[in-house]
Amino acid sequence: MAAQVPGQPPVSEPKGRADAWTEERGTSDEGRQRLEAPRSRANEEELTSVEAHLAEILRTVRPLAPTALSLSDAHGLVLAEDVTASVPLPSFDNSAMDGYAVRVQDVAAASERTPVTLPVVAEVAAGDTGAYALPPGASIRIMTGAMLPHGTEAVVPVEWTDGGTSRVTVYGRAGVGHALRLTGDDAKAGEVLVGAGTRLKPMHIAVIAATGRSTVRVRPRPRVVVLSTGNELAEPGTPIVPGRIWDSNSFMIAAAAREAGCLAYRQSIVPDHPDEVLPAIEDQLVRADLMITTGGVSMGGEHDVVKAALRQLGTVTFRKVAMQPGMPQGFGTVALPPSAAPDGKTGRARRSLIGRMAERGEIAERAIGSAGGDQVPIFTLPGNPVSAYVSFQIFARPAIGALQAYGGLGLEATRAELTGPLRSPAGRRSFLRGVLDRGRGRIAPLTGQGSHQVATLGKANALIIVPEWVVQMAEGETADVLVLP
Ligand code: AMP
Ligand code: MG
Repeated sequence: MAAQVPGQPPVSEPKGRADAWTEERGTSDEGRQRLEAPRSRANEEELTSVEAHLAEILRTVRPLAPTALSLSDAHGLVLAEDVTASVPLPSFDNSAMDGYAVRVQDVAAASERTPVTLPVVAEVAAGDTGAYALPPGASIRIMTGAMLPHGTEAVVPVEWTDGGTSRVTVYGRAGVGHALRLTGDDAKAGEVLVGAGTRLKPMHIAVIAATGRSTVRVRPRPRVVVLSTGNELAEPGTPIVPGRIWDSNSFMIAAAAREAGCLAYRQSIVPDHPDEVLPAIEDQLVRADLMITTGGVSMGGEHDVVKAALRQLGTVTFRKVAMQPGMPQGFGTVALPPSAAPDGKTGRARRSLIGRMAERGEIAERAIGSAGGDQVPIFTLPGNPVSAYVSFQIFARPAIGALQAYGGLGLEATRAELTGPLRSPAGRRSFLRGVLDRGRGRIAPLTGQGSHQVATLGKANALIIVPEWVVQMAEGETADVLVLP
């Protein structure tokens, strides 16, 4: 059974958790070491729970205004209206097969042994809008999708006939309605076919096109600007000396944002200088629905320039979140400064920047309108690559969903049996890198769980969640797992 261990108490009790990944699924505590020490006040003040931080993010982020886009541009975006059938689908009775339109009585006696021969009085192809009538005792050759001649009761598939053109011999009987597609058998006129809030997949695009719509109202693809900060950073492709590293975060986060359905712009590296950070952020605001920085937010004082620069705005909060990796988190909003107002000098310069960006298609009309006004949500993620990655998946992905009024961007949760033991710090929720074998329902914790260990991150396909009140888990236990996209 669970052993009581000294140390940091849990930040939140299991019952208080908003997420569903542990409670209802009957997690066994056997083999886990739990914390049962009383809560410490100092700790509660210091650490914010993952849920509380995420809740504040979701309270802040507002959905982007819907826009009408052509169907070809709407794939992957979130629908902002209900799409209804303007006409029944199908909109006219038609043939489901290539064959012969008949009255059932005329083929009632047809079989292999007693074939029936009928005259073929016409031929109707798909797209033929002419009005045909089927005389009794005759047949009309008909193609798939062609409108049914008046009086048709069934279509005899061509495979049951000799395929004749002026006369046809039929070797099988077809009952009423055979191989017919009747008006409205797929959808009634006025029926909601794709609901607001749906992320449009190819089949939804097909449905909308089939109702005759060429444009559809969707939330625009969120534009995410990614900045990495750090004097140690160099562009991949350039030489480095000891003491420097290549910037991996900004490429990773931009790719993760694209994977989450965004347009992502990566900006070049921002040095750790207090005067550089705010201008670099402000310069990008015109084309951002969301900004993400990495680095410069830890606890290290004057080198944490992102924290220092944004704190003075008063709209960005920096806190320690009870998680590992990813404890130092900053989130809030930024706006173009008053100096960038349209009548100011900077404003003119900035507006010409906006104009250039608009010409290159990097910003939309709405950005031009928003200069000086709109608040852009900003995440300041920690610099260690694993911390930045996990923070993006846990906090920024849902925020990207919120920009589109879409709740489905959280990572897929599952459970799997651990193939090895693991440890986790007291009072913090761990997101450990693992290799999930979905077929077998097992997950192997990776060796090398340091937040700097980007190479190990590259081997993972899932995160193992170890709750705040658990400090170790044994091989064979079942763990909550988030599947990485
Ligand atoms: P910081 O959060 O700025 O204190 O950085 C924490 C750690 O992450 C340091 O070891 C940094 O060198 C590293 N780091 C910061 N930014 C990046 C980046 N863009 N790519 C790779 N590593 C980074
Ligand atoms: Mg740094």
